[in-house]
Amino acid sequence: MFACDGCGACCKNLDKSPIYEDLNRGDGVCKYLIDNQCSVYENRPLLCRVDESYEAFFKQIYSLEEYYELNYTMCAKLKI
Ligand code: SF4
Ligand code: SF4
Repeated sequence: MFACDGCGACCKNLDKSPIYEDLNRGDGVCKYLIDNQCSVYENRPLLCRVDESYEAFFKQIYSLEEYYELNYTMCAKLKI
């Protein structure tokens, strides 16, 4: 399972990718992020679910190890 530390950095940088346009409240922050927590966590979109997105979109392209590494690299960049 992907080791997300819950920092919230990805939820505050939605303007980095057009696929999150519908969630962006206008300044890059997700409209569902409240007190740095996802207010719809149990029902968050598939695009916000790292492991489930792998199964749905990336399984044919990357090994799980490669996919996690790409995600950890992106997390590190967003945390800066
Ligand atoms: S930036 Fe990475 S570690 Fe932080 S909340 Fe998003 S997925 Fe989790
Ligand atoms: S729906 Fe939740 S997990 Fe997805 S970007 Fe918004 S706050 Fe983050």
